[in-house]
Amino acid sequence: MALAARRRRVQEAAAAVDVDVVLVTPGPDLRYLTGYDAIPLERLTCLILPADAEPLLVVPELERPAAEATPAAELEILTWSETDDPVALCLSRLGGEVTRMAVDDRMWAEKVLRFRDALPGTAQVAAGHLLTEQRMRKDAAEVEHLALAGAAIDEVHSRMGEWLRPGRTEHEVSVAIERGVLASGHQRVDFVIVASGPNGASPHHAPSRRIIAPGDTVVVDIGGTMPSGYCSDSTRTYAIGQPSAAAQVQYDVLQRAQQEAVESVRPGVTAESVDAAARDVIDDAGMGHLFVHRTGHGIGVETHEHPYIVSGNTQVLGQGMVFSVEPGIYDPGRQGARIEDIVVVTESGSRRLNNRPHELVVL
Ligand code: ZN
Ligand code: ZN
Ligand code: ZN
Repeated sequence: MALAARRRRVQEAAAAVDVDVVLVTPGPDLRYLTGYDAIPLERLTCLILPADAEPLLVVPELERPAAEATPAAELEILTWSETDDPVALCLSRLGGEVTRMAVDDRMWAEKVLRFRDALPGTAQVAAGHLLTEQRMRKDAAEVEHLALAGAAIDEVHSRMGEWLRPGRTEHEVSVAIERGVLASGHQRVDFVIVASGPNGASPHHAPSRRIIAPGDTVVVDIGGTMPSGYCSDSTRTYAIGQPSAAAQVQYDVLQRAQQEAVESVRPGVTAESVDAAARDVIDDAGMGHLFVHRTGHGIGVETHEHPYIVSGNTQVLGQGMVFSVEPGIYDPGRQGARIEDIVVVTESGSRRLNNRPHELVVL
């Protein structure tokens, strides 16, 4: 969808809840609304979206060329120089009385408080919910960007045998994977988890100096951001030679759980029902206590966004929603395993955007 249409929808959403102006500083919302991937800095860059007037972008003078090199060039751009007060500049363009302002969910507290000090009588609310509906439902072009991100991260997983070898530390492997993520077409690496042996039982383990050994299972969860702004996120679990019998039994349960959950995805079902589809399989195998997190999260211009695939979330899934299906089984002191695919809700079912084999891959 055209960026101008996205901004208009936020303005409409703001007007509907009596918010007079929406302020958006660098982060995923700014990128989503302007195509400008601005660097978050102490200097104020701010998209001003009045409920009933034209949007404008306030940037430090030195950032103007960077802003103008992006689709944000179609906006009116106001600059401030080093000795100006950027908050006063923003307020000078707000027009009449501002009763309620919405600030983006990622705005630095320091900036939120400066706006509050400048307009002490104005209520501040979080702007996230004004964007959730449209960010959650991807159009065809966004799905295509996410499919390209998925194919790129699949390519990195396909090369795992080059890097994941006994005798290397998790850290050494993670550095090689990072290069692979960039070589696959990502603009930046967002995270690389290499969790071997007992470390696999910690879902967000940071790569350590542990040396990978024969018999280990290794959880590799990787993701980055593409030049389009859209993110990838995929996990596979590898075995270094023959895995233990216990690891294989747990893995087989996990693979069935992930498959059941993906197959349950279609328009009209709730987010929590997809979580239940995975959890039921793991519970029935007596391993429910080892599955310690929700089944998934939405993904788009952020790695984690709505809809969250979690018990209690009655959000009805609809065409264009994109999220991870990533159950895991974590056996403390022994090993862990996770399988993660990004899935898009289609007109009648779902489509996986990650397509590497789902079996425990023996390297
Ligand atoms: Zn995670
Ligand atoms: Zn992941
Ligand atoms: Zn994930």
